[in-house]
This record gives sequence, structure tokens and C-alpha cells, in this order.
Amino acid sequence: MLNLVLFGPPGAGKGTQSQKLIEKYGLIHLSTGDLLRGEISQGTALGLEAKKLMDEGILVPDHVVIGMISNKLDSNKDARGFIFDGFPRTVAQAIALDELLKSKNSAISGMIALEVSDTELEHRLLLRGKDSGRADDANPEVIRKRIKEYNDKTAPVADFYKNQNKFTSVNGSGSKESIFDTIAVVTETL
Ligand code: AMP
Repeated sequence: MLNLVLFGPPGAGKGTQSQKLIEKYGLIHLSTGDLLRGEISQGTALGLEAKKLMDEGILVPDHVVIGMISNKLDSNKDARGFIFDGFPRTVAQAIALDELLKSKNSAISGMIALEVSDTELEHRLLLRGKDSGRADDANPEVIRKRIKEYNDKTAPVADFYKNQNKFTSVNGSGSKESIFDTIAVVTETL
């Protein structure tokens, strides 16, 4: 199985590059942000709870996203592999993901981190907010809060994979195509 973690701050291009990876390698895309927005649009209790935090740019509790990922792994038993996008976002999530995959005799193949400067991220997210309709993309204060959450709680996840020799960083500025070419080269070494 090919199990990739696509890593990077909000606006780094994880969603865009995930789409390209799915097309090329036939993997299942697991984005916790998309799954949470799905819960919100269905009006579930989980969605209502998550919405308050998401609108403020704060991470939802670990057990919520770990539970969603666990369900998705169970319902895609025949998958060739997965792209984890926006997950794991804390070290506790990374540990839980290792355990979930281990119980299925699988493991993370590698983490690919997209590196983009904070100034470019803010600019990209404000632009995306005009089309995405996402409340958390429209407000500069919330954007800065999301980047802060990333720096405080998510950035340490990179060390978790560095310690397992599974970490590669890629320059996330430039054309979508050239970034994808680099990601594909890395993917094929995994
Ligand atoms: P995203 O679509 O990945 O930018 O996620 C949007 C929002 O959903 C984040 O700002 C968090 O509030 C929440 N979220 C998504 N994935 C996670 C995760 N793995 N852990 C905690 N919160 C998450």
C-alpha cells in the first residue's frame, strides 16, 4: 500500500496536489477538513460542534478526527493506498494513525511537506476565500489564527516523521504542475 501524508500549513496547496496524486496513483483522498465540512452540511451533531471551532480557526478535538479517519479506513478495505490531507495535525493524531494502520498490517510510506512563506499563505487564503465561500478563508484574523495553530500544534508532527526517516520537504511556491512533478518524483521513491 502507498500511504502518503501531504503536509503543510493552510493554503500550502495540499488539496490541489492531492487531486493530482489521486488521478495519477489511484489513491483514496482522506481530508479531515472536507469530512468535517460534510458533517456541517448534513447538519449532524458532530458538524455543529466542529463548526464553532472551525469558524474561529481552532483545531477540533483529536478523538473527533481520529474517529472519522478510522471509519474511512474501515470502509475502504480494498484501497491501493491513501492520501492523508490535513491529518495528522497533532502528534497525538500521528501516533493514533500509526496504530490504526498497524492494526491493518500497514504503515505510512512517507510524509511530503509543502513549504510556503506565511505572507504568501495569507494572500492565497484571502484569494481562495472569494470563491470557496469558506468563512475561515474570508477573515484575516481567523487566517492568522489557523497559521498560529499550525505553528504551535501541527509543525511538530514533521519531527515525528523525520524521526522515522519518512519526511521530505518540497518547495510549495511555483506552478501547480512543477510542484506536482517534484511530488511525483518523491512519491516514486517511496
Ligand atoms: P482544512 O480544510 O484542512 O483547512 O481544515 C479546516 C478546519 O477544520 C481547521 O481549521 C480545523 O478547525 C478543522 N480540522 C481539519 N482537520 C483537522 C485535524 N486533523 N485536526 C483538528 N482539526 C482539524
